[in-house]
Order: sequence, then structure tokens, then C-alpha cells
Amino acid sequence: MQNLLDFDLPGLENFFAQLGEKPFRARQVIRWLHQYGADDFAQMTDLAKTLRSKLPEVAEIRPPQLLSEQVSDDGVRKWLLEVGPENRVETVFIPESDRGTLCVSTQVGCALECRFCSTGRQGFNRNLSVAEIIGQLWWANRALGRDPKGDRIISNVVLMGMGEPLLNFENVVTAVSLMLDDHAYGLSRRRVTVSTSGIVPAMDRLREVMPVALAVSLHAPNDALRDELVPINRKYPLKELMAACQRYVQDGPRDFITFEYVMLDGVNDRPEHAEQLLALTREVSCKFNLIPFNPFPDSGFRRSPSDAVRRFANHLMAAGVITTTRRTRGDDIDAACGQLAGQVQDKTRRVVRRMEATA
Ligand code: SAH
Ligand code: SF4
Repeated sequence: MQNLLDFDLPGLENFFAQLGEKPFRARQVIRWLHQYGADDFAQMTDLAKTLRSKLPEVAEIRPPQLLSEQVSDDGVRKWLLEVGPENRVETVFIPESDRGTLCVSTQVGCALECRFCSTGRQGFNRNLSVAEIIGQLWWANRALGRDPKGDRIISNVVLMGMGEPLLNFENVVTAVSLMLDDHAYGLSRRRVTVSTSGIVPAMDRLREVMPVALAVSLHAPNDALRDELVPINRKYPLKELMAACQRYVQDGPRDFITFEYVMLDGVNDRPEHAEQLLALTREVSCKFNLIPFNPFPDSGFRRSPSDAVRRFANHLMAAGVITTTRRTRGDDIDAACGQLAGQVQDKTRRVVRRMEATA
């Protein structure tokens, strides 16, 4: 059975061509699936009856199973989705006055082991399918509906949930194609942000095949510290990463990169770190987004005190770099950055290895 949520529009047109159906039928079906959240072919009343009865024999509409929804005191919502036996991922909606942002997961766990990240702690199971990635937007959209003017409540999507999006490249690109398609979610390229820990070759490919807004998780101003905090830096060190950022800005839909920087008390939050950051990023058109560290059990890190965060932000801003500090939202339901845990059947034996190392 072919799950139709695994297709973007060109993919569905192709599938329909094999069934002897015209491309406009694919556009109709994509609209039913993603604009109206249909989960049953019987709802698709403008399809020819023959097609409506043929489709269930060859295809299905199978979103990930919704297990629970939590709502935080500050309006943040989190959905837990089942993606196969004992594997669960999370999706978070963050309402703000001028936008509504959905934070989407792309993998079950993450293979990259950044030291301060709860997802990285848990190990890695597998990539999410297209249906599982777009299924998060599909569910959230159904749950949230439209505002009184008829506009969608979700105006922005950030691929900043569990996983490294650029290590699940093909599925992420297909899901993003649905996010942008006017027949599906119709979001602007500048309102869909891929966040990466810095997979340099994949940043170049993304720029070529699906240029959307890009956030790069920097977290350290020099290779020695970044090698420790974000181990993928050993493969793609800062010099290469900065060059890739410059290439991305040249052709990307926005004229800047967002650098994310988690604020870890006494580790990367001193004035000399800000100074090094300014030197490092001098050639890159960028903005900074400081994220106060969100703790989780046994992380070994503390959040920088708020005056240290303020001083750090002022330091960058005094040099003319636009800097924002992310407000912590949804932490009463463990929905803040880096707290998404879901459930991961680790295939890397990471937890076992860690226990052996500390034994
Ligand atoms: N793998 C991608 C996207 C998911 S992580 C990436 O690393 O960019 C989304 C963001 O949350 C990243 O900037 C990540 O570094 C940050 N993050 C991870 N753990 C965190 C924590 N405990 N507190 C604050 N931010 C964290
Ligand atoms: Fe993976 Fe991003 Fe967490 Fe690093 S910060 S372990 S890349 S999810």
C-alpha cells in the first residue's frame, strides 16, 4: 500500500500517471490531504467516482499515530507521535503575537551527540519518513485550525525538533516541498527554517535544491571548544563552516544566516568568547540567537545567569550584530529547545557505552 502522505506534488503526479490519471487529479488530492486534513478518500467529493473507489485499493492515508497533546501555561502545545514500536517523536507549537511557529522533528533521536542536547543523549534509531515529518504539520494544523480571518494559525515552521535535518536530506526536502507548495501548506521560503549543526556538503545541496531559511547551531567560537560541544565540528571545522555559510547567503532566500548559540555557564559565555565570535563571523552576514541552556537530568551544564546572557548580547550588538535572546517557552511541559525526548530505541548502544565509560 502506498501512503499518499509520503508524496510531494511531483511525486503524486508521477504516481497518478502510473494509474493513468491526469496531473490535475494529483493537485486535487494534495489539497484534500494537506489543506483540508482529509484522512479518508470518501471525503474527496470532487474526485471522479471511479478514482475514489480505485484509490483505496492501491493507496492509503496514514499519518503517524497521535498519542497525546499537552498544553503549557504559556500556550505552547506539544504533541507526542508514535512512529513504530517504542519510538516516539515530539512536535511543538509556539504562539507569538505576530506568528505561530511549529517546531518539527526529522529523526528518531540523533546520531551527533552534542553534549548539551537531550535528544543527542538518547542515541539514534532512524530517519523519519516524509509522511512522519509532514504528518506533524498535518496533525498540528488539524488541531489548531484557522484564525477568525480564515488564515492558518501556523505561519512558520522550524526544523529544530529531534534530529539533524540535513542527515535525512531526501525526506526533509520532500516534506519542505509540501510546506512551500501552494496546493499544500503554501508557506514562504523565508518562513521555513532548517536548523543544522553544520553538515557542510548538505548545506550546499540544500542551497541548490531547496533554498529556505537556514539556522546554524554554532555554540562555540573556536574549534577546540566546538570539537567538544558539537563533535561534528571535527569533521567540518569552523573555517569550512563559515565558508559554507557565506555561499548559502549568496543564493539563499534570506540575506543572513541565523547563528544559534546555547548559553552555558562558564563554558562559552565569557566576554572573550563574544570577541572571538565577532572575529569568526566577520565575513558572514548573520544574526545571533542566544538560547539560555535548558537543563535536563545529568547534563553536567548550567544555564548562564541572565546578566551574563545580557552582557553577551550587548557585546555582540555593540559591534553591530543583530542579537536576540530566545525566551524559554513551554518548559513546564518539557517542550523547550533541547528538551524534546520522545522515546528512542537506541541502535547506537550509546547509553550502554556511556555506562561502561563511567563504570
Ligand atoms: N540538529 C539540529 C536541529 C535540532 S536542535 C541542530 O542541532 O541545529 C535545535 C536547537 O536546539 C539547536 O540549536 C540545538 O543546539 C539547541 N539545543 C539543543 N539542546 C539544547 C538545550 N539543552 N538547551 C538549549 N538549546 C539546545
Ligand atoms: Fe543532534 Fe541537533 Fe541535538 Fe546536536 S543539537 S545532538 S545535532 S539534535
